[in-house]
Amino acid sequence: MNIKDVDIAIVGAGPVGLMCAYLANLCGLSCYIADKSEGPLAVGRADALNARTLQYLEIAKLFDDVYSHGKPCNTSSVWSKGEFVSRQSRWWDELEGCFHKHFLMIGQAFIEQVVDSRLKKANLPVKRNASADQIRMTTEGTEILMSNGDAVRSRFLIGADGAHSMVRRSMDISFEITRPEIVWAVVDGVIETDFPKVPEIIVFQNETSDVAWIPRERNIDRFYVRMDRMDFTLEEAVSKIDQAILPHRLSFVEMEWFSRFSVKESVAEKFSVDRKVFLVGDACHVHSVNGGQGLNTGLADAFNLIWKMNMVVKNFAPEELLDSYEFERKPVAQSVVESSGELVRSTKYSKAGTHAKDYVEIVAKRAGNITGMGIRYGDQKSGDLVGERLFDFEIFPFASQATQTASRIYTQMDYSRYTLLLFGSCFDLPKLKSNINVIAIEIISPAAHEKLKRNADLKNLESLPNAECNASASNQFLAPLTRYEGQALIVRPDGYIAAYSSVTEIGKILEGYVYES
Ligand SMILES: Cc1cc2nc3c(=O)[nH]c(=O)nc-3n(C[C@H](O)[C@H](O)[C@H](O)COP(=O)(O)OP(=O)(O)OC[C@H]3O[C@@H](n4cnc5c(N)ncnc54)[C@H](O)[C@@H]3O)c2cc1C
Repeated sequence: MNIKDVDIAIVGAGPVGLMCAYLANLCGLSCYIADKSEGPLAVGRADALNARTLQYLEIAKLFDDVYSHGKPCNTSSVWSKGEFVSRQSRWWDELEGCFHKHFLMIGQAFIEQVVDSRLKKANLPVKRNASADQIRMTTEGTEILMSNGDAVRSRFLIGADGAHSMVRRSMDISFEITRPEIVWAVVDGVIETDFPKVPEIIVFQNETSDVAWIPRERNIDRFYVRMDRMDFTLEEAVSKIDQAILPHRLSFVEMEWFSRFSVKESVAEKFSVDRKVFLVGDACHVHSVNGGQGLNTGLADAFNLIWKMNMVVKNFAPEELLDSYEFERKPVAQSVVESSGELVRSTKYSKAGTHAKDYVEIVAKRAGNITGMGIRYGDQKSGDLVGERLFDFEIFPFASQATQTASRIYTQMDYSRYTLLLFGSCFDLPKLKSNINVIAIEIISPAAHEKLKRNADLKNLESLPNAECNASASNQFLAPLTRYEGQALIVRPDGYIAAYSSVTEIGKILEGYVYES
């Protein structure tokens, strides 16, 4: 038996387990991750990253590995019997504080391969062909016995082991499943068609709306076809696509993946046990694929959880912080089950027979979930920023920082630390703990912003802000007017606002982040 002692043990290296391991490694935590499969997914399953996930990837420095490989898509249109009916993208266009107002169509397999390879490079390869056989709670944490002979002792155990989670079952956590008896065929392939091909999600309205066409990366396309029974053939699914697209024609030149997806809906009764065992991703929530929320919700679980573990392991926060994982993520999972459930049922049942139109209207109504941008934590009091996502904004370097180029605030965040954002003037900060990174933002006029966008020098336009002023800020930037002018914000590592005050009263929010003198 090989005994391993780590901060975090992760069972399951699907996209969510992989992301947990990657983030733990970014934070400098020791980690063990194992999966019973031979390697990351090669094809199929989830197909889109939403706008919030793209912001997470920026914080985690994974964005550049992914973005150029996907296909941006923010438009849904409805077609009926060869006729165009409607086209919408308003719920994306209206998003504020976000620079990528679209889905990035890219397969789960690609994401898994990118993160798996980053883990290898970081000398933290996934233990493959290794399943968790037994779990035991100990005074210090947990111990897992693996099929490869490893005995892994850890402070925290994460069950990222999918819908049939062995970790969830070992902890006796209830997971009652609803089955709305709706089954989808999912078909990925290279197609030839005389239909005017555009990067839009297309829902076809016939008697019901049982075919949706999803643009994908590379030269492939995806079709979801509602079948309502499990024993259908690929030919039957393709025949429904042929019917939906009439009078146009479509043929598959190459078939990449075909799957039957029977809709199940459930949210685990608990997301954690004794502040030692935590469930993430499909292990604690499953639902229909409609709205593309499974992978995105799982990745958001990972971003919500790992920084909390990091703060607790490093004694920057009490263990109670870990309770907020379930408190914050369970309501999100419940709302995702509701929104995907409403969508999937609308494809089959419609009072007016306008299923496809109804579908797109539900997408608009549930846009906060589908874009990921409507998620906020805690109780919303009017005007209260706490629990809101940080709105992204452009930043420009000071002239003296010649090596830096124009960018956005999300690219400057560090997942292993809080970010203290100071807007507007000069401050004398006390000595802050190392779990907080300070960024000072000097607001510039619209004219200066225009000039900076053209890469021009600001000289003679206005007096330059004094870069020496905020000596304790590790980074200082110029930015056009933002909604945060005059404020000081403490932003959590996952990009949500933890506390705020006016910059002149900053002492109010720094308690807990300052070394006692
Ligand atoms: C057939 C199918 C089709 C889908 N299609 C879509 C789609 O079209 N669109 C969409 O948005 N979503 C789709 N989904 C959902 C999406 O794939 C999931 O939401 C996403 O994979 C969740 O990621 P995860 O990491 O939580 O779990 P998973 O991806 O399920 O990963 C769990 C991992 O745990 C491993 N594991 C399980 N038990 C053990 C054990 N005891 N020991 C070690 N390892 C273990 C498994 O091998 C697996 O690699 C589909 C899912 C399925 C099953």
